[in-house]
Parts: sequence; C-alpha cells; structure tokens
Amino acid sequence: MATTYDAIVIGTGQAGPSLAARLAGAGMKVAIIERKRFGGTCVNTGCIPTKTLVASARAAHVARRAGEHGVMIDGSIAVDMKKVKERKDTVVRRSNEGVEKWLKSTENLTVYEGHARFVDTHQVSVSDQLLAADKIFINVGGRASRPPLRGIDQVSYLNNSTMMDVDFLPKHLVVIGGSYVGLEFAQMYRRFGSEVTIVEMGPRLIQREDEDVSEAIMTILENEGIKIRLSAECIGFEKRGDKVAVNVDCSSGDKTVIGSHTLLAVGRVPNTDDLGLEKARIAVDQRGFIQVDDQLRTNVPGIYALGDCNGRGAFTHTAYNDYEIIAANLLDGDQRRVSDRITAYALYVDPPLGRAGMTETEVRKSGRKALIAKRPMARVGRAVEKGETQGFMTVLVDAETKEILGASLLGIECDEVIHSILDVMYAKAPYTVIQRAMHIHPTVTELIPTMLGELKPLE
Ligand SMILES: Cc1cc2nc3c(=O)[nH]c(=O)nc-3n(C[C@H](O)[C@H](O)[C@H](O)COP(=O)(O)OP(=O)(O)OC[C@H]3O[C@@H](n4cnc5c(N)ncnc54)[C@H](O)[C@@H]3O)c2cc1C
Repeated sequence: MATTYDAIVIGTGQAGPSLAARLAGAGMKVAIIERKRFGGTCVNTGCIPTKTLVASARAAHVARRAGEHGVMIDGSIAVDMKKVKERKDTVVRRSNEGVEKWLKSTENLTVYEGHARFVDTHQVSVSDQLLAADKIFINVGGRASRPPLRGIDQVSYLNNSTMMDVDFLPKHLVVIGGSYVGLEFAQMYRRFGSEVTIVEMGPRLIQREDEDVSEAIMTILENEGIKIRLSAECIGFEKRGDKVAVNVDCSSGDKTVIGSHTLLAVGRVPNTDDLGLEKARIAVDQRGFIQVDDQLRTNVPGIYALGDCNGRGAFTHTAYNDYEIIAANLLDGDQRRVSDRITAYALYVDPPLGRAGMTETEVRKSGRKALIAKRPMARVGRAVEKGETQGFMTVLVDAETKEILGASLLGIECDEVIHSILDVMYAKAPYTVIQRAMHIHPTVTELIPTMLGELKPLE
C-alpha cells in the first residue's frame, strides 16, 4: 500500500526544498526525497564550495601582490591545503545541515532519504516504501559528464565532486575543458601553487561568450602562468607511472601534457537516467533533459520538472526561479513563465565576468540596429585605485526601443555591477534611465551611466 501525499518533491537541490516548504505551509501534506546530500550540487559540490575555495585562492594572490601596495610580508606565501579544505568544509556544512534541519522541522513535510524511482505516473518508490501523489515535482539536478574519451578508463581523474576531497597540492593539474567549471578550478589551483594546464577542444575558451571576452580571460589566466592548449581535437589518456599523460594533438606545441592529476570538466548531464521516467511516460529530449512547457509542466498532467534537469537553466538562480514560477502559478494565481526571465550569470574567475542578456555576437546575428559602448577597466577609477585593471565592460542597446539588450562586464566587482543593468532590463526602461542616474563615487558602477553616454552604432 502506498502512503499518499498531496505532493512529492524529488531532490533537495535549489528548487525542491523551497517548493516543499511553501506547499507544506499552504496546508498540503508533502514528501521530499533525497538520495545523497541535502542541498544538492550548489551546496555540496558546486557554487558554495567553489566560491569559498576561490576566496582562499584570491587571498593567496592578494598576499603575493601585497608588495605592489606597499605592504611587505616577510617570507614566502604558503598555502595550507588542509586548512583551505577545512574552511570550505565548514562553510558547506553550515548550509548542508541548515537545509536538512529546515526540512526535517517543517510541519506537514516528511523527509525520505533514499533513491526515488517512478513506479507509474503517480507513484514513486524510495527503498522499500511506496509513495503516491497527484502532484510530483522533479528536482534531480545533474552530474559531471564523462564522455568516452580515449583511454579514460585506464587512468584516475577528478571531477567537481571529487575535487571537494582534495586536501593537498597537485603538482601539475591538467584541466580538461576550458569552460565555466574548468576555468574556476584552473585559476584557483594555480593560485594555490600548482602548475596548471587547460586543455580545450575548441579554438577558444568559453565559446558561448564573445571572442574578445574569451581572449581577455585567456590573457588573464596566461599572465598567472596557466598554460592553455586550444583546438585539442583528439584528447586521449595514458597512465605513465603515477602520472597521467594527456594526448592533446593540438595544431601546435607538444602533443602530450604530463600531469600529476587530471580534472574532467567537460559539461554536465541530467540525473534522469535512473529515475524510472519511462514508467511514468515522462518525455525527455535526446540528452536526457525532461521536456517542460513555459510553466515547467511535463507532458504528464500533475508532474513538473525544476532546475538543471529540465535543461532550461544551469544555475542556482534559474533553479530557484523555477520554484518561484511553480509556486506563483499553483498557489498565487500569478501566471509567471520561464520566458519572463533574462539570461544572467557570472563566471567566477578573478576578476569575474558578469553577464546579462545577449552577447555582441547574438545581437549582430539578430540583425537589429544596435548601439554599443565599451570601456576598459583601466579607465575605471575604482579599478585603478585597487590596482586591478584587467578586463573591460561592454553594453549593447537597441537603437530603436532604447532598451538595453545585453552586457558583458569583465572586471573587479562585475558579478555585482551587472545587476544595475539587469534590473533596468527587467523594468523594460530605456537606457537613459540609468544614464541619468547619479551613482556613488568611486565605484565601478558609476561608470555605467558614463558608458551609456558614449554609445556608438554597432557597425
Ligand atoms: C563546480 C560548479 C560550480 C558551480 N557554480 C555555480 C555558481 O557559482 N552559480 C550558480 O548559479 N550555479 C553554479 N553551479 C550550478 C549549480 O550548482 C546548479 O545549477 C544547481 O545546483 C542546480 O540545482 P538543482 O536544484 O537543479 O539540482 P541539484 O542542486 O543538483 O540538486 C539535485 C538533488 O537531487 C538529488 N537526486 C538526484 N536524483 C535523485 C533521485 N533519483 N532520488 C532522490 N534524490 C535525487 C541529488 O542528490 C541532489 O541533491 C555550479 C555547478 C558546479 C558543478
């Protein structure tokens, strides 16, 4: 006999807990199921630990540059990797335990620990228990992908999850994948003191960004001593004693990079292959992402998919926004939609990249008349004062509507600065609103109105 609930939530990532608590608060009898660690990827192996580690790496970097600021440190700068990991673990534990306590103490909410599988359209099994509900919310997230690269089975390698256990300094870390996850780890470990090589299959880093952004980030990383191998079309692995030889077969340079450790950061796959979706006839696309409509309904009435597993976002804020959309639709009579949101994210290399809306490439492809303004961070007073002038800011505006189309801000504090642009985009206000705003001096954000006063037609 199944235990019946009003709603079942599968997964305790960035959408599930808030949704479960909201539904329970509305008087529904709710079950939530977690197979691993409360809080999911972001809390345990994603955003929170990586940004905590990035902060340690930045502390080392700033300490090494202290002399430039007239601050003299006697002796060399050493990084204690055990302490770095302990600090990260403390921050993660606080979040992970916080989610667990919150869920377990919420009235009307029952927590199940185990692997959930659909038995049919309205029943889910967890270990030896059977649960049933008319409404089921899938928030199972994703994991690091492991493509069938030549020789991968012969060597040991790390991914974003196993990197969390590293409490030593790899002598030479070879990072396979020059995109968001790979770049953050690459810079972090270089700053901890490892030799680092990035091996990227494509002709440039982070290919979703504009070329000038890719190039600027490549320069930033190379200036810190990171080696970068692009166009590595035929990646393969071989064991060489206690080391790993990575065949890169690039158009120039050595054909093999020998590292002490390898990090595979080549994308993510949804956790939908072991969920029994076929038993409930829930449709997925070719890559395993659950297909949803603009309000996150699957093809099966009463079943919804939120977060990374629906392929409509790959960030904590998109997963959380999915929760808000479903809660608004089901509980508030407010018809919010996925298509209401504007693309926004940050890449936490240092200095960070803050992104909103369209890239320059996308604007050009759209064929619309547009205006563009660019400013190097070397012409931003705040960056000069801090001695951190790497990067540049680009803003694009629709020439007819005067609305901001997008921005790529690469520079100190730009993960925060981007929000001044994002909020005006949400307001659908003309750029002149922000151009005429009086911003605080000296900040990076104060240059946004100045830039908007310098817009030129996009040739
Ligand atoms: C290294 C790294 C750094 C990142 N940094 C950032 C960042 O700075 N900013 C940002 O916005 N995003 C970042 N992300 C992405 C972010 O972590 C994810 O987008 C976010 O966690 C997705 O949340 P989610 O709720 O969809 O799934 P998840 O957080 O992955 O949670 C899914 C949960 O479901 C559970 N589960 C899966 N299958 C089952 C099952 N069958 N039964 C029971 N439970 C199950 C899992 O154990 C997990 O706890 C990063 C990701 C990585 C890998």
